Amino acid sequence: MPPRLTLVGMPVLTARWVLPDPDQAWPGGGVWIEAGRIRGTAKDAAGVRRLARRAGARVRDLGDAVLTAGLVNAHSHLELHALAGRVSAGGGFGAWIARLLEVRATCGDDVLSAGARKGADRMLATGTTTVGDIDSLGLTLAALRGHPLRVRAYRELLDARDPARTKAAVAGLSRMPRGSSRRLPGLAPHAPFTVSEDLLAAAARVARTSKLPVTIHWAETAAEVAWMREGSGPLSALLQGSPRTSGLTLFERHGLLGPSTSLVHGNLPGRGEPGRIAATGATVVHCPGCHAFFDREPFPLARYRRAGVPLALGTDSAASNGDVDLRREMALLRSTHPGLAPKEVWRMATIGSAHALGLGRHVGRIATGMRADLALFERNARSLRDLLDGLTASMPPVRGTWVDGRPSTAPDVSAS
Ligand SMILES: [Zn+2]
Repeated sequence: MPPRLTLVGMPVLTARWVLPDPDQAWPGGGVWIEAGRIRGTAKDAAGVRRLARRAGARVRDLGDAVLTAGLVNAHSHLELHALAGRVSAGGGFGAWIARLLEVRATCGDDVLSAGARKGADRMLATGTTTVGDIDSLGLTLAALRGHPLRVRAYRELLDARDPARTKAAVAGLSRMPRGSSRRLPGLAPHAPFTVSEDLLAAAARVARTSKLPVTIHWAETAAEVAWMREGSGPLSALLQGSPRTSGLTLFERHGLLGPSTSLVHGNLPGRGEPGRIAATGATVVHCPGCHAFFDREPFPLARYRRAGVPLALGTDSAASNGDVDLRREMALLRSTHPGLAPKEVWRMATIGSAHALGLGRHVGRIATGMRADLALFERNARSLRDLLDGLTASMPPVRGTWVDGRPSTAPDVSAS
């Protein structure tokens, strides 16, 4: 049983290692927390003593472990967590969606709410302190009332290109919640083939005027790309009025792309599209576990990296993944892209995902002024390289997490 971690009277934390970001590690370094934020840092034991004197506080040694920024999950659907293990991938993406909606319809709001909370507990227990979550039913925020996890709650917009539904969806945009530092609003037009251009334009307008970040599923399947570009493929039986252009072109046309936009999946970018995304500062979010679940062709990571596209990591929902554990996503990414440096994998799960959620100045790194969102992993190493290798490949046990400086590890650490 690990010791209970508390900050009462002990605001300067030290550990065998402090990893403030992917580019440096401080053996015996420290972090001073005050009022939920990082008030100061130290790179070694002498610095920790100086920091403690300045803080007028004791030093709390967390032992043979590595203290890092909390992980940031850039894409999930907590409202689907109750469906874990109940929707198979057989028959492809379309059949999966049909089964998902069928199973979801059998679950009451109480079941979905309890599932959302369980998923949030699981995230904290596995080192994640911030999540970008898609809310299509409007129940997740109530389900997570009082929960410590930091949530960018994206409201899903979907009209199935049906004008009768567009009006209501646009009207709903005038009622966006104000949010708080741990409950932050955002907009999620579902995908280019399920959202009309009128709704895309309205979302872009509200995002601009209210300074809200945007996330969109994009270029996930060949069926999506074929219907968008040519009106062909399996979706042509369900949808009419193909725009005969790529989803990315529509996003550009309506001004949806920018540094606070994330494009989720991006498995099948067209020629030149990675460069166009890079020019806007938008992030592409890769979900390795979901990718494996659907047994997809290799993710075009090298094309995005060559173009300079910011990259992030997400889990997607437990209905299309075995877990919502970012340690597992990092390990999967390492195994499918063995040439990718561990520090780039760590960057994606911290700084990259924080940027994707429009929170790059608040979470994802240990630095003075940032939110005190931290994770403590059981891991020792001889060097920064060794440390990052272990953190990203071996799913080290999580000894604790903090959100706004408060210990917040959920008691339930069992798998999903
Ligand atoms: Zn998704």
